[in-house]
Amino acid sequence: MSERKPIVGGNWKMNLHAADAEALIAGLADAGLPDSVETVVCPAFPYLAAAAKQLEGTGIMLGAQDVYYEANGAFTGEVSCSMLKDIGVQWVLTGHSERRHVIGETDVMVNAKTRAALDAGLSVILCIGEKIEQREANQTDAINAGQLAYGLAGVSAEDLSRVVIAYEPVWAIGTGKTASTEDAEKAHAAIRGVLANLYDQSAADAMRIQYGGSCKPGNAAELFSQPDIDGGLIGGAALKVADFKAIIEAAAGVATA
Ligand code: PEP
Repeated sequence: MSERKPIVGGNWKMNLHAADAEALIAGLADAGLPDSVETVVCPAFPYLAAAAKQLEGTGIMLGAQDVYYEANGAFTGEVSCSMLKDIGVQWVLTGHSERRHVIGETDVMVNAKTRAALDAGLSVILCIGEKIEQREANQTDAINAGQLAYGLAGVSAEDLSRVVIAYEPVWAIGTGKTASTEDAEKAHAAIRGVLANLYDQSAADAMRIQYGGSCKPGNAAELFSQPDIDGGLIGGAALKVADFKAIIEAAAGVATA
């Protein structure tokens, strides 16, 4: 049983307009979520400022789904770390597979965003994970190791305490397919081993590693019961109060904090 405090994030992606986002936050605020789990919600950019106000005093934290790494200037359409801080955002996702594989972000960009966010005082959920052809070629651990090394390059051991890793096999995201509990735990244990090599064992032991990829109320408890799985990053199931609450409660069920 781990002593790491579980953390569950809701990645709303490009879903929910203002009224639905407001209703979801209101539902979560009233749901009596357990405080033995850290909870983060990541609405779309236009609704972050309103969400920040609505979340005040709820204990639920606010994350953005992306950020740009430059401080300011001629970067049309982008949003800086200080702008996010300014409106009360605490967390940022970096390296989500949809940004890597749909938008085309490189490891260099993921690293730049991760470092910029940490430098600005934000906390980061750094997402990593293999594509199906990489899994079938037995490259899961190598892909994860590479994305970790790139993503965390230049991140100090001190700043690492504000990083959470989300292991999200790309083939499991939004597909209804979930990694088996054994495969997920194996990947998480290997990720912790890489972190121990990059930093040291105690830093690796302190790191929270979330599972993501079609995590839902029906499979969350078993996944979270594994020694190296410290909660989840949730897409589809984060859009309904009852489902997201059930997943957070599954994480609370294995929490020792
Ligand atoms: C995600 O977007 O990070 C994710 C895990 O999505 P889903 O839960 O829908 O697979």
